[in-house]
Amino acid sequence: MSTPQKRIRRWNADLPASVFDKGRAGRRGLTFPRWDGQPVTVDLPPAARRAERADLPSLSEPEVLRHFTALSNLNHHIERGMYPLGSCTMKHNPRLNEQVAAMPGLADLHPEQDPEDVQGLLAALHLLETALCEITGFVACSLIPAAGAQGEYLGMLVIRALHRSRGDLDRTEILIPDSAHGTNPASVVVAGLVPRTIPSRADDGRIDLAALRAAVGPKTAGIMITNPNTLGLFENDIREVSEIVHAAGGRLYMDGANLNAIMGRARPGDMGFDVVHMNLHKTFSTPHGGGGPGAGPICVSAELAPFLPGPRIAGSDQAGWTLERMPTGPDDAAIHTWYGNVGVCLRALSYILRNGGDGLARVSDCAVLNANYLLASLRDILPVPHDTGCLHEFVASGASWKDKYGVRTLDLAKRLLDYGVHAPTIYFPLIVEEAFMVEPTETETRESLDEFVAAVRAIHREAQEDPELLHGAPHTTPVGRMDEAKAAREPDLRWLGPCNCG
Ligand SMILES: *Cc1c(COP(=O)(O)O)cnc(C)c1O
Repeated sequence: MSTPQKRIRRWNADLPASVFDKGRAGRRGLTFPRWDGQPVTVDLPPAARRAERADLPSLSEPEVLRHFTALSNLNHHIERGMYPLGSCTMKHNPRLNEQVAAMPGLADLHPEQDPEDVQGLLAALHLLETALCEITGFVACSLIPAAGAQGEYLGMLVIRALHRSRGDLDRTEILIPDSAHGTNPASVVVAGLVPRTIPSRADDGRIDLAALRAAVGPKTAGIMITNPNTLGLFENDIREVSEIVHAAGGRLYMDGANLNAIMGRARPGDMGFDVVHMNLHKTFSTPHGGGGPGAGPICVSAELAPFLPGPRIAGSDQAGWTLERMPTGPDDAAIHTWYGNVGVCLRALSYILRNGGDGLARVSDCAVLNANYLLASLRDILPVPHDTGCLHEFVASGASWKDKYGVRTLDLAKRLLDYGVHAPTIYFPLIVEEAFMVEPTETETRESLDEFVAAVRAIHREAQEDPELLHGAPHTTPVGRMDEAKAAREPDLRWLGPCNCG
């Protein structure tokens, strides 16, 4: 791998011209034969009419395509290079699944259509529910949640509904290990419950059982565990955790967003969990990362099934499929309209059917193998504090780089962009100093993994020879180092006229 040039271009130098500057009056993207019939007029209410013509650019179709392709190439994306963003499972999403989800007989349906007219779709979604139950070891599934965090929220409502149905109103606490994903405590609070932190053990990063025993009691509604946890480690004592929490009257929720590490190999239902959510947009092949649609279905045990919200798919191929309301579940209107993000669900079904059970197990085997390969190739320069072998991801620490060379994990991450790699997740989880969280996924080849290792090693040398180079990185991207807090708080996204000065 050649070392990237220190400075190729800076700010704005190579940004494509604004789409407004490219337009030429009168140019058209699409033309139709002249219409010789009666003109069709529509009487819009005055409030809906523009007072002036919209000032829109006129472009040909190829100009529009080139413009947006150029824009998309300003960003890193998985089609450009590796994207080892820990916790996010940024893997390649097979195009076959896109084709299935885009089939007109599926994509053109309207959510308000009568169930009688969408029997094929309902059968497909029911098949997905059944597959997800088999993968997780549970009996009932709701495809409603549109994100992982929404699945967590719904799972909390379901556990709360169980306790309330028994008059157990004091069970308001949800225990959460400090290695949990950030959305976990947030979902608990939104569901009207109270999060309580359980420390993880300093030596091996797993839940501290003594602290757990001391925390459970009559207030315990349940525990929410990310497994494998955000350190990429399997919670080895999960059976014991289950016994402790169940004996105290609580239920176990598994954040299954990391299912890519264990699917086909281990099932939450067999580990003692009562509810799990999955991220279809991580494990089951929907592209994400740009804030697109997601799906975070939950699967539950027989005990909790009556508390799932409606609508739920019921019936059979012979008797026909219907969408049923549930008398006891939490109000579905609070979660999402209609029944799930159907496009995302269809991609997942296509992915599952194409891989089959053995294929899914191979996916997780390869995801784990790739992560361990990187860990083993980098641990001499980037130590892993809880180094007991990892599952699909690992968390290294850049603390020694900071002490020895005055270079932070942020600098390493920014410099990686110059080598054509998306930066891993940094400074998360909080329990590792200068955290550097790497998840290669199973879809990277041995060669691309080796390129990543070579890039990190090259940057390690740069840190010793020219730390200033890293402090100023990235040097080759269209936009250099940003004030990220300002960029998030004061986004400047609107085109404000030819001078772009408002
Ligand atoms: C991504 C992730 C979530 C949140 O999922 P969203 O779809 O972004 O809401 C929750 N837990 C873990 C472990 C995750 O990796």
